[in-house]
Amino acid sequence: MGAMDPLSLPALHASHAGSWLREGNGATRGVSKGGAVMAAADTPLLILNAPLVATRLGYPDLSGLDLLELFAFVHPARFVVPTPKGLAHGLGLPEPGSDAHVPELLQQAAHALLAACGDPAWPEREGAWTGLQSLARLRWPWANLLLPRIAKPSTAERWLFARLPEWEEAGDVAQPRQVVLDPQDVRQRLADLTGSEAEQRPGQRAYAGEAAHAFAPRASSGQPHVLLAQAGTGIGKTLGYLAPASLWSGLAGGTVWVSTFTKALQRQLRAESRRAWPDRRPDGTRPVVVRKGRENYLCLLNLEDALQGGFAGRAAILAHLVARWAAYTRDGDMIGGDLPGWLGTLFRQRGIAALTDRRGECVYAGCPHFRKCFIERSARASVGADLVIANHALVMVNAARSGVGGSSAARPTRIIFDEGHHVFDAADSTFAAALTGAETIELRRWVIGPEKASRGRRRGLAARLADVASYDEAGGKAVSAAREAAEALPGDGWMQRIVEGAPSGPLEDLLAAVRATVYARDESGGQEAGYGLETEAAGLDGAFVEVAQAARAALADLRQPLIRLGVRLEALLEEPPDWLDGAGRARIEGARHSLAWRIDVLGAWEALLDRLGGPADPEFVDWLAVDRSEAREFDIGIHRRWLDPMKPFARVVLEPAHGVVMTSATLRDGDDWDGAVARSGASHIGVAPRLSMHESPFDYAAQAEVLIVTDVPRGDVAALAGAYGRLIEASGGGVLGLFTAIRRLRAVHGRIADRLARAGLPLYAQHVDPIDTGTLVDIFRDDPAASLLGTDALRDGVDVPGHSLRLVVMEQVPWPRPTILHRARRLAATAGKSGGQAYDDTIIRARLAQAFGRLIRSRGDRGHFVVLSAAFPSRLLRAFPEGTPIRRVSLEEALQRIAAHASGESVPAVGAADPQT
Ligand code: SF4
Repeated sequence: MGAMDPLSLPALHASHAGSWLREGNGATRGVSKGGAVMAAADTPLLILNAPLVATRLGYPDLSGLDLLELFAFVHPARFVVPTPKGLAHGLGLPEPGSDAHVPELLQQAAHALLAACGDPAWPEREGAWTGLQSLARLRWPWANLLLPRIAKPSTAERWLFARLPEWEEAGDVAQPRQVVLDPQDVRQRLADLTGSEAEQRPGQRAYAGEAAHAFAPRASSGQPHVLLAQAGTGIGKTLGYLAPASLWSGLAGGTVWVSTFTKALQRQLRAESRRAWPDRRPDGTRPVVVRKGRENYLCLLNLEDALQGGFAGRAAILAHLVARWAAYTRDGDMIGGDLPGWLGTLFRQRGIAALTDRRGECVYAGCPHFRKCFIERSARASVGADLVIANHALVMVNAARSGVGGSSAARPTRIIFDEGHHVFDAADSTFAAALTGAETIELRRWVIGPEKASRGRRRGLAARLADVASYDEAGGKAVSAAREAAEALPGDGWMQRIVEGAPSGPLEDLLAAVRATVYARDESGGQEAGYGLETEAAGLDGAFVEVAQAARAALADLRQPLIRLGVRLEALLEEPPDWLDGAGRARIEGARHSLAWRIDVLGAWEALLDRLGGPADPEFVDWLAVDRSEAREFDIGIHRRWLDPMKPFARVVLEPAHGVVMTSATLRDGDDWDGAVARSGASHIGVAPRLSMHESPFDYAAQAEVLIVTDVPRGDVAALAGAYGRLIEASGGGVLGLFTAIRRLRAVHGRIADRLARAGLPLYAQHVDPIDTGTLVDIFRDDPAASLLGTDALRDGVDVPGHSLRLVVMEQVPWPRPTILHRARRLAATAGKSGGQAYDDTIIRARLAQAFGRLIRSRGDRGHFVVLSAAFPSRLLRAFPEGTPIRRVSLEEALQRIAAHASGESVPAVGAADPQT
C-alpha cells in the first residue's frame, strides 16, 4: 500500500440499523449484510471495532484495518470511547451526524492518526519505530501504512525494559503515633478540602465528625473502633471521610486504607484524593497509592516471553501493542487501569490474562525485571503511603496473608470500607474453599509445570527453586516428593476423561463421583436450561466417601512435603548458606509466601473431604456442583462457604485493626440497623459498633418517581421486549435495563435492537456485544441516546450522573436465586421464626435500593425507576428513599409519564399512589 492516502481507503460501518460502505472514490452507500461481507472479504476495509462489526454482520471471520488497533499503537495509554462519536472526540474531529456519515469519519480518523505519526511533537514516538518493525514481521494490517510515515530514529531506541524506571527500596516504617483528632480541626480540614465556595453541607460535616471517631486510639487489644455510617447519596461521603483520614495520617504518620467494591469509585477516589494530597511528596514518593491484586498488573517477564515468540499470530500483535502501552502507563494496571478495556476483546482471546501474573509463578528477585516490576512497585509504594485505595477482596487477602508469613507493614489497621454493603459478599468469596478441577489442575501446574512442551516460560516448583533443589539436600528431597505427589492431581484433558467415564488418579475419581451424584440428584430443571447444577454434600453413599478419603489422602501426601519445604526455606533464610546470594534470598522469600498460601488451601480441602459422610459442621455450607455455561460443562467440584463469612472476617480483618468504618447509602434495611450490625461481623469480637445515619440532601419527591407497571405478563418474552422497546422510545434512550436472567436479556435485545437503532437509539447489551463491561458503561455514559441492558449485577458498576441515565427498568422483582447456600442462610436467619420471606425481602430491598441509587447521582438529576411486576409486594416499597412518589400504573400510563418527562412537561398524577408515599 506504500504511503497511500488513508482518505482513499474504503471504509465500512455496520450498526443494528444497517451497513454503509464508502468506496475509495468517496461515495457512501447503504449495503446489505451480504454485500458488506463480500466487500470485506475482497479488500481490507477501514472498520471500527472488528469483533463488534462482525457480530452485527453475523460474520465472525471479519478482519480489516481496525481503527482501534491503530489508536492503541499511536496513542497508547490514552482513553477513548470505542464508538464513532468517541473516536471523533478523541481525535478532535466533528461528530458524524448519522450512521451514513461514519465511513467518512473512519477515513478522516485514519488520516489523523497516521498524520500524528509524522508530527515531530508526537508524544508517544519513542519505541514506535522499533515496535513497528516487529509488527510488520507479524503482518499486522496497519504496518504497511505506518512504515513510510515513521522515520527511523537517528539513535537506536532503548528497549522497553531498559526505559522503565526502577523502584526504590523503602526502609521500615515506624508504627503510627497515637493521636486524638480535634473536632474543630476535622471541620477545618473538610472546609479546606471542599473549598470555600462550596455550598455549606451540614450533613457532610456531621458525617466527617462521625468518621473521625474511628481514628481514636484503641482502648483494648482486639477491640477496634467500628463505625457503621449510612450516608444517603449526595452527602459527599468521600471527602467526608478523607478529611479525618488525611488529618490523621498527617499527624500520626500512618496509612489509611480505603476499600471499594467498584472500579468507578476507585477512579473517583483517586480524583478526590488530589484535594488532600499532592501527587508527590518533596522526596518524590507518592502519598496516595492504588493497590490491586497481582493478577491485575502486567508481568514484564511474561511480556518479554510473549514478545520473543511465546505468543503467535494475533496474540503476538496484542503483545506488541501492550508493549507500546507498557512504556506509557501510569502504573501497569491492565484491568481497569489505563490499558483500554476494549484492547483485549479486539483479539478475542485470553491474551491479556496471560500477560499478568495469575498463577503465582513470579520468580521475584530471580526475574531480570524485578527492579522495574509494576507489581513490586505498587506493593512497596503502599507501605509508606498516607492513603491506599484498594478493593474489599485485596484488603481481606492482605490481612489474611500478613498472618501467614507476610509482612505486618502491609497489614491494614485503619480501614474505610466504602460501598460497605458489599463487604459480606466479598468476605463470602474470600473465605470460601472450592476443591474443583480447575483449582486442582492449577495447583498441579504450579508444582510440576505445564505438561505439554509449551512455548511459554511457565515452570514448576523445582525450576523456580533450582538452587534449593540442587544445593540443599532436605529441600531437594521435599521438592521431588511434592512433584511426585502432585501427579495425583488432575492433568490436561481431565474434563473429557471424566465425561467419557475414564478418570485417572484419585482426584479425577473424586470429580467423576461428584459429577455422577449431581446428575443423579438434580431436580432443579437446570439440566434443560443449560445452567449450573448443584446438590447438598449430604447423604453421600459409602462408595463416594471412600473415593473422597482416597482423594484426601492424596492431598495430604502433597501437603506434607510442601510443609517440609517451607520449614527448610525458613531455615535457609535464618542461616543463609554460602551459595545463597541476595537474589536467591529474595526468591526464597517470594516462594515462602506462595507456599504458605498453597499449604493453607490444601489444608482447607482436606478438612472439606474429611467431613463428607460424617455429621455436617453447622459453621459451613457444603455442596457439590457442576458449573456450566450454555450447557457446556466447564468445572466440577465441591464447595464450602461459611454460614456466616463475617466470622473469619472479624478474626482476620477486624481484630487486628484499630479503626474500621463501613459506609454506604444502603447499609440499613429501611430504619432497621440489626441486619447491618450482624453483617459487620463486630459481634464476633464483642464490639458494639457506633451507628450513624445521614439523610440524602436530594429532593426525591421532585427528582424521582417509581413506577410499578402491573400489566406486562410475567414469562411473556414478546410482551417484555415490547415494553422495553417502548420505554426506551418514550425516554429517548438513557435507559439502564436490568435483568435477572441472561437468556431473557438476549431475547429482549434480539427483538428490539434493530428497530431502536433505526430510530437513532442505539442499544448495547452485556452478554451480547463483544465489549467488556467497563467499556459498555463508558459508551453508555458518552451517548445520551444510548441504552444499556445488563444483568442485575451491573447496577453496581454503573456510576453515570447527569442526563445519560434517566430511566432504570427492572424486568421483575429481583428475587434471590434459590441456591443451596441461600437456602441454608435463610434457614439459619429464620431459625425459630416462621418462613424465610423476611430474609428474602431484606435481600430484595437491598437490590432495589442499590438499583434505584444509580438513578439520582446529583442535585440536577431527574428520572424514573420502573419495575415490571404485576404483583409487587407493598412490603418491598421501603427500599426507596422516603418521599419518593411511587405509583402502580399500566404500561400506557408509564409511557405517558416518561415521555412527558423527556419532553419537559409535567403530568398530573394518575394511577394509585401507594400508601407509602
Ligand atoms: S518480578 Fe515477578 S511479576 Fe514482576 S515481572 Fe518479574 S516475574 Fe513478573
